[in-house]
Amino acid sequence: MAKGHAHRWRVAPGAKAHLGQVDTRTTAGAPGDKAETEAATADLAAELAGLQERLYAEARQSLLVVLQAIDAGGKDGTIRSVFRGLNPASCRVASFKVPSEEERSHDFLWRVHAKTPAAGEVVVFNRSHYEDVLVVRVHELVPEAVWRPRYDLINGFEANLAAAGTRIVKLFLHISKDEQAERFQDRLDDPAKRWKFRKGDLEERARWDDYMAAFEEALSRTSTEAAPWYVVPADRNWYRNWAVSRILVETLQDMDPNYPPAEDLAGVVIT
Ligand code: AMP
Ligand code: MG
Repeated sequence: MAKGHAHRWRVAPGAKAHLGQVDTRTTAGAPGDKAETEAATADLAAELAGLQERLYAEARQSLLVVLQAIDAGGKDGTIRSVFRGLNPASCRVASFKVPSEEERSHDFLWRVHAKTPAAGEVVVFNRSHYEDVLVVRVHELVPEAVWRPRYDLINGFEANLAAAGTRIVKLFLHISKDEQAERFQDRLDDPAKRWKFRKGDLEERARWDDYMAAFEEALSRTSTEAAPWYVVPADRNWYRNWAVSRILVETLQDMDPNYPPAEDLAGVVIT
């Protein structure tokens, strides 16, 4: 994937992610202003749908999109905007909340592995196994001796999925602390958005620096050739949607799904 745009946001395997150095409001590389960029995103949506159709028909590879962000980072909005044009027959969203009693009684990858895509499918993880080195680390839900080995366990897990034909694209939607404040305020002010706000969100916000440190280490330790991380500047939704669409289209183009060979249809006549 030398050409294209995705490399702009990619965390090079082995490199350290520096989230503080990223301009979360940037529009770098965008094809134009908001309206022009939205038009380009609409074109990408059509491309995405075509590529998904071929992926489904081919039924050999699959795509796993991992979405992570701080609260109000735009995970739900990205799903709504970028994936709305896909065929629901072969696209699923899996959301990971506070683990249930049963989930907690298994290893941390158990519930996640169960939701990974089958051949031909696109699956979006709204939060993921990364919570087990993010919220779990920030709140010390388990000792460091338990969460620290998880970076390697995650890399092994993702390598296993990759070996089985799953492409993994991991997106960190990066907003600023100021942007989060605006979005929280919006959720408080708008009756249609209030359901998204919990008082606990403010306690998480107070741990902003701890979360950024946890994200930085996760991104640095688990961006691999098989499963790279991308840091998407996400203060502007229209730029975020375009960037995510570009990354997905470029990834699927690189996967190059093809329609399976047709049976030998010589002499077939429809009667
Ligand atoms: P939301 O995405 O706003 O519905 O919130 C889901 C909540 O579940 C977030 O506060 C996450 O931090 C939390 N969560 C997700 N996975 C885990 C996990 N493995 N351990 C603890 N909390 C989690
Ligand atoms: Mg929430």
